[in-house]
Amino acid sequence: MEFSSITETLKTIRSKKISVEELSNIFIKRIKDSKNLNAFIYFNEEDIIEQSRKIDKLSNNLSLKGIPLAIKDLFCTKNMPTTAGSKILSNFHPTYESFVTQKLIDQGSVFVGKANCDEFAMGSSTTTSFFGNTINPVSPKGKQLVPGGSSGGSAAAVAAKLCLGATGTDTGGSIRQPASFCGVVGIKPTYGLCSRWGIVAFASSLDQAGIFANSIEDASILMKEVAGYDSNDSTSAKIRIPDYYKNLNQDVAGKIIGVPKEYTLPGISDEINNVWEEAIKLFEKGGAKIKKISLPRTKYALPAYYIIAPAEASSNLARYDGVKYGFRSNENNSLDEMYELTRSEGFGKEVKRRILIGTYVLSAGYYDAYYLKAQKVRKLIADDFTLAFKDCDFIMTPTTPSQAFQIGEKEEDPIKMYLNDIFTVPASLAGIPGISIPFGKSKEKLPLGIQLLSKHFDEQTILNAGLYLEKNNE
Ligand code: GLN
Repeated sequence: MEFSSITETLKTIRSKKISVEELSNIFIKRIKDSKNLNAFIYFNEEDIIEQSRKIDKLSNNLSLKGIPLAIKDLFCTKNMPTTAGSKILSNFHPTYESFVTQKLIDQGSVFVGKANCDEFAMGSSTTTSFFGNTINPVSPKGKQLVPGGSSGGSAAAVAAKLCLGATGTDTGGSIRQPASFCGVVGIKPTYGLCSRWGIVAFASSLDQAGIFANSIEDASILMKEVAGYDSNDSTSAKIRIPDYYKNLNQDVAGKIIGVPKEYTLPGISDEINNVWEEAIKLFEKGGAKIKKISLPRTKYALPAYYIIAPAEASSNLARYDGVKYGFRSNENNSLDEMYELTRSEGFGKEVKRRILIGTYVLSAGYYDAYYLKAQKVRKLIADDFTLAFKDCDFIMTPTTPSQAFQIGEKEEDPIKMYLNDIFTVPASLAGIPGISIPFGKSKEKLPLGIQLLSKHFDEQTILNAGLYLEKNNE
């Protein structure tokens, strides 16, 4: 048995053909055999077995009974360390469980480990992790490609079948971009659908938890379990969570699909545009109508994001000072020096860059020119989407401007790295849901992704359309 999908594995567990412990042992072996990918920051065999034995005794009705999941190391977990990929949290053991992971535990899933990620989720390559980079499992022989980021460990683990699903977070693309690079499904839900409580904060007005899976069906099952209201998160939405899986419907006849002209950019490789064209044709074949739309403020999204996200990060990361928890430098002669050395030794280069930019754009005299202006632009970008959704059911774009690139590439020039987010950031600023579905291949036979975007809290529409794409993808 392959054990590559949640639906099929649940059936096998429920029919008692395999125990949770036996299943976990299969995944433990897979993880050990794939150590070279460095997909996990934390992996502990005994701990997995202990969880599995407990879960074996629980009801068969649990919706994720025995399902092995990887948890991005940004989610606080009570029984596992939580590092956010940073030296400054390398010794951090949370005393509580994040809302999202608690929900997954309550449904009987097994956490196989904490997945590698860019430090504090800042990056597009998982190369800024203090624990070393993750290798994309689709890398051809002789090459080492990035899995994307920041949730690169989660995407790689799902793609390599080291688990059947994973959590991620997406602030500007950190679920959708790695999903595209690794050839898996990745969903960033509407801002507020999944609680941020217990997730290490990067940019609080953008951070959103979501999931990775190997199919739309599996993604729909996981989505229902991670979504839901939480009074501990003031931005959590009080809405009824649909049964995404039961409601799946791949009929796209009559749907109107918005194709924004601003997503065709000079310098974007032909293969990306070709795959986009193919997806358009496929939808037309299914009876959908294509509508050319305009999202005129798209070109301001990346600069606005790279003001707002670092600004919020500089504020959020002020708490890491070596006093209450986390790493502390011992080389100090005074309190001030302790703060300084802890932060300069504890944070990596990219995180420091963001803190510097963020502190600058928030400083007196510059606040209005940068932060306030960026917030106004953000509102205009959101308005573009609102207007567009009056005429279409959902929007379709490529997920990324390129296929997965080589480890080490783009490291010298942060702007080149930031350009990875060009297609994902607008939806993050607007707070709308986005999904990346593997579709088509590059000339080098690497996976590419199509991004579908819909109105706030209309995850079902893009899951349905995603199912159509997935099922008709040759
Ligand atoms: N690559 C983007 C950044 O570095 C997005 C990261 C994310 O979504 N967490 O900010």
